[in-house]
Amino acid sequence: MAADSYDAIVVGGGHNGLVAAAYLAKTGAKTLVLEARATTGGAATTEAPWPDAPEFRVTRLSYVMSLLPPTIMNDLQLERHGYKIFPMGPYYQAFPEGGSLTLYEEDSQRAYDEIAKWSKRDADAYPKWNAWLGGLADVLGPLLLTVPPALGSRKPRDLAATLRLAWRHRGLDVRTVADVTRLMTMSIADLLDDWFESPQIKGALAVNGVIGTWAGPQEPGTAYVMAHHSIGDVGDGRLGSWGFPEGGMGAVADAIASSARANGVTIRTGAPVAKITVAPGSGRATGVVLANGEELRAKVVVTSLHPKTAFLDHVGRENLPSDFASDIEHWKTRSGVVKINLALAELPNFTANPGTNLQEHHTGSVEMAPSMEYIERAFIDAREGRPALRPFSDGVIPTAFDRTLSPEGTHIMSLFTQWVPSEWASEPHADELEKYADRVIDTYNEVAPNFKGAILHRDVVGPYEMEQDYGLIGGNIFHGELSLEQLFHMRPAPGFADYRTPVPGLYNASSATHAGGGVCGIPGMQAAKAAIADRRKTARARRK
Ligand SMILES: Cc1cc2nc3c(=O)[nH]c(=O)nc-3n(C[C@H](O)[C@H](O)[C@H](O)COP(=O)(O)OP(=O)(O)OC[C@H]3O[C@@H](n4cnc5c(N)ncnc54)[C@H](O)[C@@H]3O)c2cc1C
Repeated sequence: MAADSYDAIVVGGGHNGLVAAAYLAKTGAKTLVLEARATTGGAATTEAPWPDAPEFRVTRLSYVMSLLPPTIMNDLQLERHGYKIFPMGPYYQAFPEGGSLTLYEEDSQRAYDEIAKWSKRDADAYPKWNAWLGGLADVLGPLLLTVPPALGSRKPRDLAATLRLAWRHRGLDVRTVADVTRLMTMSIADLLDDWFESPQIKGALAVNGVIGTWAGPQEPGTAYVMAHHSIGDVGDGRLGSWGFPEGGMGAVADAIASSARANGVTIRTGAPVAKITVAPGSGRATGVVLANGEELRAKVVVTSLHPKTAFLDHVGRENLPSDFASDIEHWKTRSGVVKINLALAELPNFTANPGTNLQEHHTGSVEMAPSMEYIERAFIDAREGRPALRPFSDGVIPTAFDRTLSPEGTHIMSLFTQWVPSEWASEPHADELEKYADRVIDTYNEVAPNFKGAILHRDVVGPYEMEQDYGLIGGNIFHGELSLEQLFHMRPAPGFADYRTPVPGLYNASSATHAGGGVCGIPGMQAAKAAIADRRKTARARRK
């Protein structure tokens, strides 16, 4: 095989690209990963953003793990390659009007006592809610590892896949199907109104419904987003609880990269791809051209990039069926997320739970989502074209466990905040982002008065930077919204949710496929499996 020729080329060295490459190489394929940036990991990255303080490292974009299936961990032996998770502590919200709520997942009596401070009725409802949600998450979970069938297709293979899916769910009763329907169609606000009365509990439980979405809690479909984040088992064993990877999210990508290299993968960084080449006659993918003009050939190409980049820029409309090109053009990819990373001289000292010594409430999510109305207001501001006056924030302090990220006595705090207008992905808005970050910090300062004074350094990453530096078009954290019309057999386009594309030999491992986003590796694994299955089928056909 020529030096510039490979069995498989993977475009993009984010965690999904690396997973795909590792699986391909495990079958003996000569595999190359091409990553545009200087480092691999994509949105799973640990960086030192302050040149004057390189001893502080932040998990710059994504910040907690949950959906990585045991199958991938075991197949790629990730623990042997350095993957280590610290389970997260409880959910904590200190309220501007006084008091706090700490939700202990593992201790039902403590959870009861905490909720009863706000509403005895809600404390009674909470275990029933957890059981109800757990039951539904167990139905939805295994769907994450299911390759979506091409619904509506009459090809025998597609009909068989649709029937297999229906057969697997034959045990569901009318009640469960109704509950799943509710979950898929309702807003998280309406759903929580059915279960709970106190604004404090509803605010806490609404958070997972709006993480990464261009939608407030009143929007239909947000109930599903909440359930997506509550899945505990994708069908191959319990997932680990939400947790912080030692070394930040970049360490997860490093473990996958190390496993890939051990299987023989070559990884080239600083190697942006400009084009995916397609044979004129067959329309088959033949390789890639790098931005520097270098041409590389491969029998299989896997792209893990945002679909607009992969298909509209790299493949080109002229090589795609017009329906598919139009579906990708209309792919919704807004978000309005701003990530704020802080280096702290000391832990926040909450008025409701005093002390700068490490306590349980510092070890989980340190939230700024005091009510559903508060979250909704933040979204309405952004939808009307203004950055939220009082942004919502999902905060974590990974250094409560992970002492590799900052010097002894200091801490890192990661704030995932929403929303700024989605149009901010097109322009930097640097000054306004700083003012927005000031307001986020002010909201925490109201409940922990030492907060502002404890900040040593801060790093604000808005949608423009996410798009320009990380390839997250529109600033969307999942390569495309998790809205109902973009899920399962529609992700990223009807007829192409099986990780294949209209271009034979080109596979899709992006977070814009089913089970993405999130740092779960499922798209990478499934795209590699599809490519491996097709190659085996072709080899069998040749032998006959
Ligand atoms: C702010 C933020 C917070 C998040 N929080 C969480 C979280 O806490 N937990 C969680 O599970 N998920 C979270 N996510 C989502 C998660 O990080 C992503 O869904 C996931 O990392 C995407 O992985 P990927 O490999 O599919 O794509 P990416 O990580 O986007 O990787 C694609 C790679 O392709 C590279 N690339 C781009 N263009 C080219 C080119 N032309 N040539 C070659 N390479 C190219 C990019 O540099 C990148 O490395 C978050 C995301 C963001 C942005």
